[in-house]
Amino acid sequence: MKDQFKVIVLGGGFAGLQAVKTFLKKTPGVDLTLIDSNAYATMLPALPDVLSGRVPRAALTREFTEIFPKGVRLVQDRITALDLGARLLAGENETYQYNYLVIANGSMPAFFGFAPKSGTLHTLHSFAAATALRAELLRLSREADHATLLIVGGGYTGLEVATFAHHGYADLRPGLSILVVEKADDILSFVPEKTRRTVLAYLRSIDVELKTGVSLEELSSTEATLSDGTRVHNPVVCWTAGMQGANDTIAGSFDQSRDKRLQTNEYLQLPKHPEVFVAGDAAALSDGESVLRRALIFAHDSGRRAALNCALVMQGHTPQPFRPVDPGWVIPLGNISVGKLFGSVPVGGRWGVRLHYLLASVRHFGASQAWEFLKTALVLGRSPDKPGRSEPPDQRH
Ligand SMILES: Cc1cc2nc3c(=O)[nH]c(=O)nc-3n(C[C@H](O)[C@H](O)[C@H](O)COP(=O)(O)OP(=O)(O)OC[C@H]3O[C@@H](n4cnc5c(N)ncnc54)[C@H](O)[C@@H]3O)c2cc1C
Repeated sequence: MKDQFKVIVLGGGFAGLQAVKTFLKKTPGVDLTLIDSNAYATMLPALPDVLSGRVPRAALTREFTEIFPKGVRLVQDRITALDLGARLLAGENETYQYNYLVIANGSMPAFFGFAPKSGTLHTLHSFAAATALRAELLRLSREADHATLLIVGGGYTGLEVATFAHHGYADLRPGLSILVVEKADDILSFVPEKTRRTVLAYLRSIDVELKTGVSLEELSSTEATLSDGTRVHNPVVCWTAGMQGANDTIAGSFDQSRDKRLQTNEYLQLPKHPEVFVAGDAAALSDGESVLRRALIFAHDSGRRAALNCALVMQGHTPQPFRPVDPGWVIPLGNISVGKLFGSVPVGGRWGVRLHYLLASVRHFGASQAWEFLKTALVLGRSPDKPGRSEPPDQRH
């Protein structure tokens, strides 16, 4: 009977890929479709390396046709609407009927109503966005005597952008200043004071300026105005101040949490639509007490659990609750890192950065890319400011 079911996985990130792999294993006969607006999957945690040049850009993405040569229909389309009643997804090219749906379309930047007068707010939420940011930095570094990479948001992504851009200085650094503005009074409030001081000293040592208690007030194509009155000439602005679920565009009528992640039951189903499962950043995943941070491990595990549960429901069985296991986290900041493993083991220095690349190599979508991350982990940072590799601009959008 399961052969008659049409199953759609929306989004080919860590959650969607894991869901497809699980369906292929558990329900080999099912009519399975993966829809993504891109033709390739992206190693999101390594996007700061588009700026550093440490990892070849070819290693940061992989075509879906290479990941899944058979067993699943691969569709490149951007979904713009979802009709839960009619069980229909509408894309820019086509509409798609489903019996079961796994929503795994990740997150997108949240701008909290900020709209520039003119000029561009760059982000780091996709490969195309990261490549556009790098291209703009290169252009301004070449054409202007002086330009500033202005990073709005001193969270982990903002600090990764600042430090990784610094490490790509062979291409980017001449005539380029790096400034991070953070609205809160301090950065990394979740790390111990000693660790925070280490990070602040490191930022100073690589000439990254940090302004706390300051926000971006206005942006034009030639100037940014900050809330402390500072005017920044020739800014390249990278917005890293927040993320929200990517469902805003497709599902205005859903019950959603404040940051637009979808609320599910413990089986990862939409409460009123048990035929719809949600995984990864798109879901307000919970450990039973609080909503989990957006992280690769939870995306991976929830993608698997959503597909397993969908298979169980299709076969008339009872689904199993999603029980997340948190092995910890590590944030690479250029040549140093902060992190905590298994709830209490601190991670720092270059070992943490190596660990970050090792994890990327384990979680990667292909052997050759995994090897690039492994190599990066092994040779990392022989000198404190090892310049990044120069590469030709990538044409992919
Ligand atoms: C810069 C950066 C650094 C990070 N660093 C780390 C880290 O060090 N460690 C860690 O654990 N986590 C990190 N994360 C978070 C981690 O990458 C995410 O939690 C994880 O990728 C979420 O996986 P996902 O499958 O839910 O979504 P994604 O990986 O975002 O995949 C979503 C997919 O859906 C597609 N899609 C979206 N909307 C549509 C649509 N309307 N139609 C069709 N397709 C659509 C997208 O193209 C994409 O392929 C980082 C994230 C970023 C952005």
